[in-house]
Amino acid sequence: MDSTLVIAIDFDGTCVEHDYPAVGLEVEGAVETLRALSKRGHRLILFTMRSGEKLEAAVRWFRDRKIELWAVNENPEQRSWTTSPKVYADYYIDDSALGCPIMFIDGVRHPVVNWSKVRTMLEYNRVL
Ligand SMILES: [Mg+2]
Repeated sequence: MDSTLVIAIDFDGTCVEHDYPAVGLEVEGAVETLRALSKRGHRLILFTMRSGEKLEAAVRWFRDRKIELWAVNENPEQRSWTTSPKVYADYYIDDSALGCPIMFIDGVRHPVVNWSKVRTMLEYNRVL
């Protein structure tokens, strides 16, 4: 397996609780897992529907937490082999992805990513 992978990360409901257009509270386990992925040399793409100032706020969220982003809403390498707008990644971590482990928070309508389970899955797949 390639030792460095491309991992696309959704923002709302994944890194932070749903509070769009504001930036919600950190989802438990997100920061430490993202940092660990980055330290392993994996390339993180912020993959979000946010745009303009709301996107800048999300990018700032990563910068403030010293989590290196490789790209935002694009894979800079895929233009050489496709014109598809779909962002290529080895993994997509997204609260809306069927199969992504989620958890419900009391009093919050939308579930968020369960990073503890994501971490277990990434370790099982030898990504972490
Ligand atoms: Mg989401």
